[in-house]
Amino acid sequence: MRARITTLPGDGIGPEVTAEAVRVLQAVAAIHGYRFEFEEHAIGGVAIKQFGSPLPRATLDACLTSDAVLLGAVGSPEYDRVPPNQRPEAGLLLLRSALGGYANLRPAISFSSIAACSPLRTEIAYGADVLIVRELLGGLYFGQPRGNDSTTALNTMRYSVEEIERVARVAFEAARKRRGKVTSVDKANVLETSQLWRQTVTRVSQHYPDVTLEHLYVDACAMHLITNPRRFDVLLTENLFGDILSDEAAVITGSLGMLASASIGGEVGLYEPVHGSAPDITGTGTANPCGAIASAAMMLRHSFHLEQDASDIELAIEHVLEAGYRTPDIAKGTGGYVITTGEFGEVICEAVTEIADMRHAYHAV
Ligand code: NAD
Repeated sequence: MRARITTLPGDGIGPEVTAEAVRVLQAVAAIHGYRFEFEEHAIGGVAIKQFGSPLPRATLDACLTSDAVLLGAVGSPEYDRVPPNQRPEAGLLLLRSALGGYANLRPAISFSSIAACSPLRTEIAYGADVLIVRELLGGLYFGQPRGNDSTTALNTMRYSVEEIERVARVAFEAARKRRGKVTSVDKANVLETSQLWRQTVTRVSQHYPDVTLEHLYVDACAMHLITNPRRFDVLLTENLFGDILSDEAAVITGSLGMLASASIGGEVGLYEPVHGSAPDITGTGTANPCGAIASAAMMLRHSFHLEQDASDIELAIEHVLEAGYRTPDIAKGTGGYVITTGEFGEVICEAVTEIADMRHAYHAV
């Protein structure tokens, strides 16, 4: 197994958490004899400083010609007053659309050892494991016409059957490997785009008789997500609703630092933690690298089809949390010992190695 991975550490804590994700990928490569080649490039604020652009040509070219892209975070307070198209975040938006990943996957899992971190009551969050599949390249964020003439502003929500079908297939395939249920979210009682969404998802579901489909209005879904998150398996939704619901689902886990994401379906998969550059904790060694490490696991699963290795990393995260290791964001009310970002990466590598050794020993018996 050989793969070329472009790493884009970016700004703030981005380089700190990306370094740990790379360390874990290197551990997996060492265990199994894979050859992962990492090539680092600039994006966001650091790229503006070095090259005058939040997404330099060399960065984009490297991403487009690699097998997968691992990103840290972009954004810095020094660009807060700059127009949106010149900010670090513009680089990320350009990259996402250039890579063409139309399905954004965001798992939200309640780990029992840190369930007390969630603002939800433990008995509500406990055991929840939701995969949000959000359509990423259509809807209101991209629809034309759009504009603002200072007295009126306009955005367009537009979806084609093809755009809905392809993301729906991602959700049904994912549900097949999980608990076999898709909840499709829309606002079909009001919006024509949602009516087309519902009809199309229902039609796609006929190819997946082993998966149960339910439809839910977005407002009801928002309520169920925090009152009964365990009722969900895969949650499929369009761009705007997905943006809002996936942030809401983050409360299940208890810290932004835990959340991973994958943008797939295009030529090259993009893997990134959900959190931003966290300028308030940059350089303190307190950043939680779990979101970045879990994003690396998603890379192994979706770009390289290394399901077992992806599961090993996810299991290692769970074991390390159960063993009581914490970064400060997940320490409150959960006991355990606080360690640095780098130490956290190290214990995850050790756990990954132990899990792989145990599996080898089991197969050898
Ligand atoms: P943020 O996610 O950076 O931080 C929000 C809060 O969560 C902060 O208190 C931070 O310390 C904490 N936090 C975030 N990640 C953490 C981690 N791994 N471990 C421990 N604590 C963590 O969001 P923000 O403060 O609203 O934005 C800061 C900058 O990041 C802004 O410039 C914003 O535009 C940018 N941003 C980038 C992305 C991205 O790169 N995908 C996403 C969101 C925000």
